[in-house]
Amino acid sequence: MGAQKTTAMAQALAALNPHIQVQEYGTKLDGKNAQQIIRGYDVVLDGTDNFTTRFAVNAACLSAQTPLVSGALGRFDGQLAAFKMDRPTNKESACYRCFVPYAPPDAQTCAAVGVMGALAGIIGSMMAMETIKIITGAGQPLYGKLYLYDGLNGEARTINLAKDPNCPACGS
Ligand SMILES: [Zn+2]
Repeated sequence: MGAQKTTAMAQALAALNPHIQVQEYGTKLDGKNAQQIIRGYDVVLDGTDNFTTRFAVNAACLSAQTPLVSGALGRFDGQLAAFKMDRPTNKESACYRCFVPYAPPDAQTCAAVGVMGALAGIIGSMMAMETIKIITGAGQPLYGKLYLYDGLNGEARTINLAKDPNCPACGS
């Protein structure tokens, strides 16, 4: 049996950059603990592989008004979005559930369908880029936008994400 994912990741990150501080949480993030864990951070990156966790992260970020950078992988395609989460001051800002209100019935996990390491590298690096932009104030984060990358055809496009007034998380 190998090391916990969090411990393996903490060790890998420390080897990459000894100047960073890593806090491990050896527990599954859920609707009960997400708020408490997320509250202390300036920005959150979500690359989880199930909608229950994504919805819990979204709700916690909304509650704490913490920007959320969301990345997802298909077999050969990737998605990237950023959500400002500064309600109620910005009523125009979409959240993750404005985009995905409910878990699709045909949702598949990376573990089930497989994922290409190169694709994870592309979307992961883009998530890092969005995070640096949000922290430093440089450029325009992908707030309210969805970046779609088609790996097989080498094409990408960006579409606008509208706030849904009937969103189960941020709707009125
Ligand atoms: Zn919403």
